[in-house]
Amino acid sequence: MAKIVCVLYPDPVTGFPPQYARTSLPALDGYPGGQTLPTPEGLDFTPGELVGSVSGELGLREFLESRGHTLVVTSDKEGPDSELDRELADADVVISQPFWPAYLTAERIARAPKLKLALTAGIGSDHVDLDAAIARGITVAEVTYSNSISVAEHAVMQILALVRNYLPSHKIAAEGGWNIADCVSHAYDLEGMDVGVIAAGRIGQAVLRRLKPFGVRLHYTDKRRLPREVEQELGLTFHASAQELARNIDVVSIHAPLHPETQNLFDEKLLATMRPGSYIVNTARAQIVDRDAIVRALESGQLAGYAGDVWYPQPAPADHPWRTMPHNGMTPHISGTTLTAQARYAAGTREILEDWLQGTPIREEYLIVDGGRLAGTGATSYTAGEKAEEKN
Ligand code: NDP
Repeated sequence: MAKIVCVLYPDPVTGFPPQYARTSLPALDGYPGGQTLPTPEGLDFTPGELVGSVSGELGLREFLESRGHTLVVTSDKEGPDSELDRELADADVVISQPFWPAYLTAERIARAPKLKLALTAGIGSDHVDLDAAIARGITVAEVTYSNSISVAEHAVMQILALVRNYLPSHKIAAEGGWNIADCVSHAYDLEGMDVGVIAAGRIGQAVLRRLKPFGVRLHYTDKRRLPREVEQELGLTFHASAQELARNIDVVSIHAPLHPETQNLFDEKLLATMRPGSYIVNTARAQIVDRDAIVRALESGQLAGYAGDVWYPQPAPADHPWRTMPHNGMTPHISGTTLTAQARYAAGTREILEDWLQGTPIREEYLIVDGGRLAGTGATSYTAGEKAEEKN
């Protein structure tokens, strides 16, 4: 019988369950490109319920306990006395979410001798030390595609919010003001701008598709070039490197995973090559940019705005400079955990657990590390062999 430790973000401060605005979710047939939605044998929650926080338990308790497994759910993840650290000693599986990451460092992995599966309820497994997982033969899996479109929608929203100066204008309205000049002296149309994405994977491509009708010139860079038909359909300009892209755009949206190649990519030097008054939206991972260089670029006007939902560490400390830097449209890490997204990543988490517990192979596209090497999506999107912290 397995022990599963699941680390989830805390319940709403207003109590659990919350009042839901809608009674159902739209039914989807599948993901773009043909990947099927999660296919668990059963589901013990109603899609649209808050399952991503502690009391929601990803809807897993009944399923696991009825089969004799042990489920521990906690949001207590910081420090050596955290519940996570206490439970790690005999955990077979750790489930974590990028929104409230249980950082599975090499030290923690060393203190979890039974750990065999690190499962990300969502997408992005950089909170797991992949080199340590590889060395120990731990499988790392995530629910590929589960919240890619959720993030793409958030990124497009934040691009528009920055360029059109939405948040400060809303604040003026909410506070009883009407000074239009204050609202618009930092507001532009997106139409006609050069907009680029760093990585045209599932999220990056979805962002490009959603931006096309805005009449912008679209750019991208990726390790692999998209098929010519896709480039033609979307009118894309390909750049061989992030450096080349950065100096040719007005707005950049970042959608690459965090791994040694992308760590600290947007540093002081790269920011200085961008067009003055550029915008950056980063819903990928905070460590892809240099935290303090972003603040300085906003203060100097080299950047006209920065938005995103990813921070380091998470939760971000109260005095994190991105909370108060000028022209920021930051949110907590929420883009991939709408109620809609939760339904998919909770179902995918259960599918992966069902397979793993009964010894059936986990879907290839869900794998990041398996059998002591990068596998599945991990083999194409990540690199291993050099720890992220050492590159910083
Ligand atoms: P995909 O795996 O579909 O796409 C990632 C893309 O990044 C791939 O096309 C990959 O290239 C490309 N890539 C990897 N390294 C580089 C590099 N050095 N330079 C350029 N391109 C690179 O993942 P998703 O689009 O679904 O997700 C992307 C990331 O977004 C996740 O890893 C995660 O960090 C973040 N995310 C954030 C969420 C949030 O809530 N804010 C939720 C979900 C994801 P190729 O495969 O062609 O080699």
